[in-house]
Amino acid sequence: MGLFTGKKGIIFGVANKNSIAWGISQALHEEGAELGFSYAGEVLKKRVEPLAESVGSKFVAECDVTNDEAVDHLFTQASDHFGTLDFLVHAIAFAPSEELSGRFSNTTRNGFRIALDVSCYSLIALAKRAMPLMPKGGSILTLSYYGAEKVTPNYNVMGVAKAALEATVRYLAWDLGPERIRVNAISAGPIKTLASSGVSGFRKSLNYVGAVAPLGNVGQEDIGDAARFLLGDWSKQITGEVLYVDGGYHIMGAPDTDRMEKAAAQSQE
Ligand code: NAP
Repeated sequence: MGLFTGKKGIIFGVANKNSIAWGISQALHEEGAELGFSYAGEVLKKRVEPLAESVGSKFVAECDVTNDEAVDHLFTQASDHFGTLDFLVHAIAFAPSEELSGRFSNTTRNGFRIALDVSCYSLIALAKRAMPLMPKGGSILTLSYYGAEKVTPNYNVMGVAKAALEATVRYLAWDLGPERIRVNAISAGPIKTLASSGVSGFRKSLNYVGAVAPLGNVGQEDIGDAARFLLGDWSKQITGEVLYVDGGYHIMGAPDTDRMEKAAAQSQE
């Protein structure tokens, strides 16, 4: 018996096997969860279907989260297939690539609108429709990044979208609390994925975080492990929280240069 035996949920945001959502899916599958998957567009279908099949999923449906009719349709399909849901994972973000480099003051109105719509409003849209499918309560999880809280060069408008996302987590947690639906976020350390590769200078910042974080870089399996906790019953009185799964990077006020020099010297040996 796993922690999630008898529990059902939908994962939004698997693009390929490197996706954070896939790390979460594998962890939940190991715990016995029944999983459904939603992907953004036709192009992804070929990649998501075999992954879904490998964890025994019989529900794979397309949904562009910026389209209300598509979201309604997805939840009608989910209701027909699952009846009720216990959890939902929102691992979706997007900003036009030209917004993810250069001066923040060059952010366009349209880039801002798209980033906030896809990366933040979509959580509200999904939570509203998941609510009636969670009559005995449930757990909703989204993914944030430290750029919500502190400036991360080139993350730009996505940092603003993640700040709005973290505030949205708190407002949804308050609103859905009486229905016993919890809403939390994991603020993940940098991981190489399709989305993160679109941020200018990502590789350098991955190396830097790896050197500065007390525990070094994280992997998608680490996010999966934290998701077992936040989506499962062990966290039943936790809501509106942002849990850092970043190897401790966010506690550092300045890099430990001695440690960094030692690590650099060791890598030369
Ligand atoms: P990923 O594999 O590229 O996943 C991003 C997902 O968002 C993709 O499946 C993408 O589909 C989907 N998406 C984009 N626009 C959508 C739309 N309109 N409708 C539905 N889905 C849409 O990258 P990831 O890094 O795992 O990202 C997952 C989450 O983790 C994101 O919220 C990201 O900001 C967050 N996060 C990532 C890191 C990191 O370093 N990787 C760190 C902290 C937080 P398409 O590919 O079709 O666009």
